[in-house]
Amino acid sequence: MAACVGPTGVPVGVGRGPGDGGDRAHGRLCGVRALVFEEFGGPLGVRAVPDPTPSRDGVVVQVGASGICRSDWHGWLGHDPDVVLPHVPGHELAGTVAAVGDRVRDWAVGDRVTVPFVCACGHCGPCRDGAGQVCADQTQPGFTHWGSLAEFVALEAADVNLVALPDGMPFTTAAALGCRFATAFRAVTGVGRVRPGEWVAVHGCGGVGLSAVQVAVAAGARVVAVDVAPGALSLARQFGAEHVVTGTGDVPAEVAELTGGGAHVSLDALGAAATCLNSIRSLRPRGRHVQVGLLPPALGRPEIPMDLVIGAELALLGSHGMAAADYPAMISLIAAGRLHPELLVTRELALADAGGALAAVGREPGIAVVTSF
Ligand SMILES: [Zn+2]
Ligand SMILES: [Zn+2]
Repeated sequence: MAACVGPTGVPVGVGRGPGDGGDRAHGRLCGVRALVFEEFGGPLGVRAVPDPTPSRDGVVVQVGASGICRSDWHGWLGHDPDVVLPHVPGHELAGTVAAVGDRVRDWAVGDRVTVPFVCACGHCGPCRDGAGQVCADQTQPGFTHWGSLAEFVALEAADVNLVALPDGMPFTTAAALGCRFATAFRAVTGVGRVRPGEWVAVHGCGGVGLSAVQVAVAAGARVVAVDVAPGALSLARQFGAEHVVTGTGDVPAEVAELTGGGAHVSLDALGAAATCLNSIRSLRPRGRHVQVGLLPPALGRPEIPMDLVIGAELALLGSHGMAAADYPAMISLIAAGRLHPELLVTRELALADAGGALAAVGREPGIAVVTSF
């Protein structure tokens, strides 16, 4: 682990979350480099923080790569009530198990792993139903406790949440899976149930939107991609979008014209009142809207046109990540060369540059991943 670089000014708090309480005494007071913010919207600086220790059911992972996501940006700005200051963001990670709690059965030091951004408890009703992505007692690294924009991160309920990486899958690629690619995969296949030949509209072509374009195309759908940024639309075209629409005009009318009456499935992959409403209004009768982007109340709530929902029999669906148990289908498609999450990674950064990238989320196309700590 990293050498101590002196007093941090940050209270002992690594591993905040379930199982942490009694273990804090084991954490060293200085040890690992992490991106820290002490006020919402305030400076993002790299400093030494205490080493995390695993809870009895958890592990500590040495982070090999960690993506920077719009959800981190929401957390930094104070849009997520789970975030307590000071805080270390980061939830899209891959790395190597470095320490293991005494009740963990399936994992050992040295294993190469990733996790969903929603870490399930494994015991509650939704978990017993196989829906860990909506676990009633979930933890989320980078939100409910300190995250992975750091050399090491603590993860809870390892036997429920860790996913083994195939040999040959780099950490950089795997870091893109835990949040955006997995979220898009389940939104398109599991929730939207996209079928070959259907029209899919994707509103917002950031990381999750571009992932959705790629997954929908691989599923045999015809895709209309919508964004305001030319760079994002150009990537959407590369990933197989048949049409692109600049999201400043009458988007639903343009989608209806391009698709001969509206999309069968439409995703709000950004999470804004305007994109949510555009997505719903882009549907043909009996179409399925899938809400993927977060809609924090602080940014305003969309006024859902329920008259249209009933009149056209629209389905409004939410999709919140993907449980670890559902990863194998996605990973086998990646291993078979049918899906290419690595193409989404447009920038590899050092931890020292992570703060600037987090504050500027959305300004550059594709996904930024921290690969040097
Ligand atoms: Zn649960
Ligand atoms: Zn994310």
